[in-house]
Parts: sequence; structure tokens; C-alpha cells
Amino acid sequence: MEKVIIIGTGCAGLTAAIYTARANLNPLVLTGIMPGGLLTTTSIVENFPGFPVGVDGYELMTRMQQQAEKFGARIKFATVEEANLTQSPLTLTVDGEKVQAQAIIIASGAGHRHLGLDSEAKLEKKGVTYCATCDGALPMFRNQPVVVVGGGDSACEEAMYLTRFASEVSLIHRRDTLRASKIMADRALNNPKIKPVWDSVVTEVLDVAQDKVTGVRLQNVKTKATQVLPCAGVFMAIGHVPNTQVFKGQVDMDENGYILAKRGTETSVPGVFVAGDCCDHVYRQAITAAGMGCSAAIDAERYLARLNQ
Ligand code: NAP
Repeated sequence: MEKVIIIGTGCAGLTAAIYTARANLNPLVLTGIMPGGLLTTTSIVENFPGFPVGVDGYELMTRMQQQAEKFGARIKFATVEEANLTQSPLTLTVDGEKVQAQAIIIASGAGHRHLGLDSEAKLEKKGVTYCATCDGALPMFRNQPVVVVGGGDSACEEAMYLTRFASEVSLIHRRDTLRASKIMADRALNNPKIKPVWDSVVTEVLDVAQDKVTGVRLQNVKTKATQVLPCAGVFMAIGHVPNTQVFKGQVDMDENGYILAKRGTETSVPGVFVAGDCCDHVYRQAITAAGMGCSAAIDAERYLARLNQ
């Protein structure tokens, strides 16, 4: 039986791993399908304290993992397939095997939200992508017009990154003001290669018949006018959905699938704690996720001390 299992290796999971490892709890840390979490798909992180010139997202996560391993965390590339948290001991099915634990910290993060269009799904990886850092430099996008969908920090960041490769970047937003922070919005809107397309939604990604992206069909939400904007790539940056499907019915969640935290990082199940983007739809920052990971580790440590006294 494990003392504590941490699910997820983003900022929340790895911070919880550092703290529980230093508390001699010998944590087992499960990576899920994206070791390092969403931050590994970003370029430069400029707002994590301690890095005045910024730090590469992948490097930051690699360093956190090294720090956790240095103190004895066991990091395993594995995915939770099933959870039974309603009975003691807490049981997870991990890559076909049952694993039991006295305490669990869920830090499973969030994934990219999809528009939900049929054409979007059919053209995924054929010009539709959810990560500019991962795919922006591909030959198919070089010196070609591309579009970014969204109006948040991610959309601005992706659009700016893509100006390195694309001939032009259209930023398609469903309103006429960006949700992004002022610094990011100003940078994007002042970039001569970025052209905002306001009040518009993508109604179809073209062209499924050609099995590649050739453009997007747009509708102006105010005038209802439609237009086709030719492009070689569509970069979706419309937010995230929590990776909590496997815990449905096991811990209390809100209607969007975010796990409900009460009294710090406690969930509705004793011994199960939560941290990071899978429970936070408000702040969603690397540093807040790390902070919650720390809190969850301390809460788990105190819970185990009471349980085993
Ligand atoms: P976000 O802030 O939730 O923004 C999502 C954007 O997508 C919004 O503009 C939203 O429009 C739009 N959207 C959502 N669903 C849509 C749909 N179905 N169709 C069309 N548009 C849709 O998400 P995010 O930009 O990924 O940022 C998430 C968090 O990470 C934020 O807290 C952000 O500050 C943080 N972040 C920070 C940085 C940084 O500081 N460098 C970089 C990236 C992300 P509305 O505005 O109309 O709702």
C-alpha cells in the first residue's frame, strides 16, 4: 500500500511531489499522458517568480521533476484508468494494475478545449492544432497565413509565437475586446503581422474534401455576415477543460467537471486532496497551481499523521 499517490506532473503535481518526498512519504507520482503538463507546450514563462529573464516551460518542468526525484519521489509514466475512492483503501487502476493508497492528491490538470466542429475533428493534425509551440514551425505553416482562435492570454501568446513562421496571423475572437491581460493584448495588437478579426466565430474548417486546411468559414456574430478566410493552419486557443473524467461520481465536482475543494485542498472524500487546474477555473497560473500543490501535500501529510498515530 502506498502512503500517497500523486496524479499528474504539472506544476501542482510536481510541487506536491517535492513536499511529500521531503516529508518522507515516498510518493508515487503518475504522469498521465502529458508528463510535465500543459506548461511543457508553452514557450517562455515570464511570470514565474525567480526567473527575471523568463524560463522555457519545458525546462521549468524538467527542473521541478529533478527536484522531486532528488528527494525520493518515484515518477512513473502511467495513466489512471479507473478510480474507486468511495471505499477505504483508496484504489486506482493504473495501466491495468490495481494500486492502493492511504492518500491521493489529484493534480490531473486540464486539456485543450475544442470548438466541437465536425470539420475541426476531421482536420486535426492536418492543419488544425491546439499548440503553436509544438506545431508552429512545421513546414506546412511556414510563410503561409494562419489563424488563431481565441481572445485570452494563450491566443495572444500563440499568435505572437506564430509570427516567427507564418506570413500573417489572423486572431479570431468572438467579441470585440480581448480577455487577455493588458501586457499580452498590447503586444499582440501592436504586432504588424497579427490581424484581429473581431466579433467572429469559426463555423467550419475547410477543406475536409481535400483532407487539409485551406481556410476557415467565419460568421460575424453581430451582422451574421459570413466570409471564407484562406489559411494553412488553425490554432485553437479557446481555453481548457479539466482532466477529471475518470473521477466522475467519485468526488464532488461542479457542472463543468472541476473538482470542488473545501477547507484548503480537501475534496468530498477523506484522504483525497486536489490541486491545480483540475479544480481551479479562476486563477489557472503556474504559480497558483504550484502553491496549491504545496497546500495539498501539507494537507495530505497532516491527514496521514492523524491516520497513522
Ligand atoms: P481563457 O482565458 O479562458 O480564454 C479563452 C478564450 O477563448 C476567451 O477569449 C474566450 O472568449 C474564447 N473562447 C472560449 N470558448 C470559445 C468558443 N467555443 N468559441 C470561440 N471562442 C471561445 O483561456 P487561456 O487563454 O488558455 O488562458 C487560461 C489561463 O492561463 C488564464 O488564466 C491565462 O491568464 C493563463 N495564461 C497566462 C499566460 C501568460 O501569462 N503568459 C499565457 C497563457 C495562459 P471570451 O473572452 O468571449 O470568453
